Amino acid sequence: PADVETLGRSSWTLLHSIAAIYPTTPTASDQSDIKSFMKLFAKFYPCWSCAEDFQEYIQKKDVRASSRDEFGNWLCDAHNEVNKKLGKPVFDCSKWEERWRTGWKD
Ligand code: FAD
Repeated sequence: PADVETLGRSSWTLLHSIAAIYPTTPTASDQSDIKSFMKLFAKFYPCWSCAEDFQEYIQKKDVRASSRDEFGNWLCDAHNEVNKKLGKPVFDCSKWEERWRTGWKD
């Protein structure tokens, strides 16, 4: 399998990109699907120790996805949890959409 860092970078890109196209006003089925997706993603994430911690996180902090903004922020918080664990800088979640959807201004 890919190394943990390359896998991680690609995976966060995929996940935040999904948040960027998640509906602003999701249906009940969108919401239940994205929750299932995140649970299954965490279950089969191909870094087993990462997967274990991420599954635990999802159990503790249930996926919130009643809007794009809510899901984008939930995911940003989840990513920050991993950043903290690895000693990386915490990302300012008010900027998640600028980073992953609309693009930086400069
Ligand atoms: P990454 O953390 O991969 O981030 C990529 C880019 O996302 C950054 O350059 C930044 O622009 C942006 N970004 C950063 N933080 C946020 C945020 N909070 N919200 C939105 N955008 C942000 N690695 C381990 O060693 N141990 C683990 O237990 C572990 N668990 C992981 C669990 C999951 C679910 C995933 C997807 C990855 C995990 N990783 C783990 C990998 C780790 O998170 C990093 O992806 C990897 O270390 C590469 O880091 P990076 O510095 O390139 O930036």
